Formats: sequence, structure tokens, C-alpha cells
Amino acid sequence: MKPLSNSLQHMDVTTTLHPYTDARVHEEKGPLVIERGEGIHVIDSTGKKYIEALSGLWSVAVGFSQTRLRDAAAAQMEKLPYYHTFAGKGHEPSIRLSEKLVEMTPENLTRVFFTSSGSEANDTVVKMVWYMNNALGRPEKKKFLARNKAYHGITVASGSLTGLPANHRDFDLPAIPVVHLTCPHFYRFGHDGETEAEFSARLVKEAEDTILREGPKTIAAFIGEPVMGAGGVMVPPAGYWEGIAALCKKYDILLVADEVINGFGRTGARWGCEKMGFTPDILVTSKQLTSSYMPLAAVLFSEAIYDAIADNSHKIGTFGHGYTATGHPVATAVGLENLAIIEEQGLIENAARMGEQLQAGLAKFADHPLVGEVRGTGLIAAIELVADKATKRPFDPLGKVGAKAFEIGHEEGMIIRNLGDSLALCPPLIATAADVDEIVRIMGVILDRTAEWLA
Ligand code: PLP
Repeated sequence: MKPLSNSLQHMDVTTTLHPYTDARVHEEKGPLVIERGEGIHVIDSTGKKYIEALSGLWSVAVGFSQTRLRDAAAAQMEKLPYYHTFAGKGHEPSIRLSEKLVEMTPENLTRVFFTSSGSEANDTVVKMVWYMNNALGRPEKKKFLARNKAYHGITVASGSLTGLPANHRDFDLPAIPVVHLTCPHFYRFGHDGETEAEFSARLVKEAEDTILREGPKTIAAFIGEPVMGAGGVMVPPAGYWEGIAALCKKYDILLVADEVINGFGRTGARWGCEKMGFTPDILVTSKQLTSSYMPLAAVLFSEAIYDAIADNSHKIGTFGHGYTATGHPVATAVGLENLAIIEEQGLIENAARMGEQLQAGLAKFADHPLVGEVRGTGLIAAIELVADKATKRPFDPLGKVGAKAFEIGHEEGMIIRNLGDSLALCPPLIATAADVDEIVRIMGVILDRTAEWLA
């Protein structure tokens, strides 16, 4: 091991197993220690400043130094730092946040269940749906439909719904009944000569054929991110969601919108499902709910689902599900203040405006020799790098060039994320026009320097 320059680095490599990290490479390199946040920037332990162009993990809507969230957390810590919501207990912040979320979400969503992470929220969805179908006397209706390249989390059930090989490999997943359908990414999965409309129709037919093959009575729910995030930022073409929503209605299948990234303005609309034109029976939200200042997620669901669960809890005496931190008072107090800031500062509208500027700025890179596709909507985007523009041939091995671009980004003072060879951007919703210009400028430098490195 190389000598390490400071003791935090040494402590880290001798004690910590990092998520999504090659542990042996990490032992050599050590951590990048982030010390402070300032608006859309973070600052590392050497004083180097970076634009956080992925909002941390797609989540810090209000930037990294919002003192109102600090004050809301401190005030709640002072008053009631912890209490639970088991056995009929409640407290003001979680009750008020439930009410606020019901007000903010599509009209049919009237009930809320809190967890601390998106993964736990999606596990909760699976368990609620199973519990409900057992209660309704249809115990065979348990399977989920999801998509390849979907990201729904990493716990045993949510990780099963996720459609990314690295989340399954050597973890013995999927471990629940789930069928993964084709990812609705036209650039990669459209056939030669196919139009986007034909692609959407083919994927909807694939879903219907799957439902018929498996038996509609066995399919409980379809889960999808309206705009896909961690799998590479994919915006499904027109007709896709309309077709999927119609199928769910036809076969009595619940439609679950995983809005953990999309929610609260990321796509330029309040909800991704609104942007994509469908109404879910269940909506899952997290990340921008508290700008990730506190861990919190929420499952919103319809009165019909609530009634079935409530009746069964009455019949058997309880709804035997919940976490120590369900509705945590500090997390929900921070969530309330964060949503107030998003509303007062018009951050959803800002995301729509800045999103247009970002997408237009990035679109100029479509001609760059390394770029296969520029895609996105609102303040979420990706640039896919390819070995051959004409044939769309990816680099081999996939991810090596993306990793180099990621590293160059750090050198240039901007944190992006490489998903394979797709470079993702997802800046905080507070980004200004000047910030977006700077993000686009640095992205150009990253592309040029990556091309030079390859040459
Ligand atoms: N669902 C989506 C769409 C996500 O993007 C994520 C995380 O990135 C999750 C679920 C899982 O959330 P968490 O990491 O909080 O468990």
C-alpha cells in the first residue's frame, strides 16, 4: 500500500467497505474526503472545489449549504429528537408531511407510508402489494414486472426489481418473482428502420405477451421510473407509458411510479409521471424530498389499496410492517422545510427553465466524435460515449472510457457520474443560468480531454 497522506485516509482504507467501489483499488487510492458544501459546490479536504453536477446522488435539490434545513433539524432536535409511529403514535412533523405529500401528488394518491431510503420504500411496496392481494383472496397475484436497466434499490426485494447485472451478480438476486422487460431506450434497443412509435408499440406488446404468458392473475404490479436514472438516464419515447398504463388497467395490475430521482421537479415537472402522462396507483419518492439532508422516503398510494390493507390489519390485528425510523421527526421536519423552500423559490419552474438551457447546451455535443447520444429532460441528462458513432458500437471493455472521463471531471473541478460509458448530469435545482453554462463548458473540456487520452 502507498503511504497515505492523512490519517482520515488511513482510517478509511483500514476500516471501511465502500458501496459501489472496487475495494482493492480503493485500498491503493484512498478516499476523496469531502469536507464542506457551498451552494452547488463541494470542497474536499485539500481545499479543492467542485461543481457537484450530480447533486450528490441525484438528490440535493437546494444545494449543499441551505441553513434553513440546518435550523429546521436543530429546532426539531431540541423539541423531540426521536419518536416512533408504531402502535398508533404520531408527531407533528410526520403528520404534516403526510398531509403535504398528499396535497402535492396526483389526486388519487391519498395515503402515505414513510421509510428511510428508496430501497426500503420499494421493499415496502412489494410487501404492501403482497399483503393486499392475500387480503383480497388472490394469493397467486404476486409477480412484479420491471425493466432491464431499472434501478429500484439494493435490498433483497428492491434489488430484485432492479434490472442491472452488478446488483444481482453474486448476490443471489432476483429473489422475488419478477420479470424484467426490455429497457425503453430507443437509441440502444430500437431495431434498424424502426420508428420511435413502432419501438414503443413493440415494447407494450412485449409487456402484454409477458402478462398473457405468465397469466394476468399472477401479475401484481408493474414498477418503473418514469424517466430512468441510474441505469443511464433514459427518457421513454411517446406512446410507451400510455400503452403500459392501459395494459395495467386492462389486466388489473397496479402501476408503481418510482419517483425517487424524478420527484419534485427533476424532469422540469413536479412529478415524472405527470411529465410522461400517466397516473400511478403507487408513487415512491425520496432523495429530493429532504435534499438528502436527512434519510427519508415515502410511499404514496390510493384509497383502494389503503382500504384493503386497513381491513386486513383489522382482521388479523395489525399491519406488521414498519421501521424504527418510520416518519422520523427530524427527517420529516427537514422534509417539510425543504418542500417549503422548493415552493417559495420556484425551484420546479427553475428546473424547467434551466433544464431547457442544459439540454440545448449539451445537444451541441452530438457532433463530437466520441458522442453516440445526448439525452435527457429537465435537469437530468446523459451523454453516451461510443467507439463508433455510425454503428453505435460501445467501447470494450464498457466503462473504462467513462471512468477516465469521470476522473478528468474531478481534475476539471466537476463531479459527474459515469454509468458505464454514459456520463450523467443532474445538477441541483438551484442552478443558475451561469452555473448551467459552466457545467456545459466543463463537459466540453471533459469530452475533448477524453478524446485526446484515447488518441
Ligand atoms: N429508486 C430509484 C429510482 C433510485 O434512483 C434509487 C437510488 O438511487 C432507489 C430507488 C434506492 O434508493 P436508496 O439508495 O435510498 O435506497
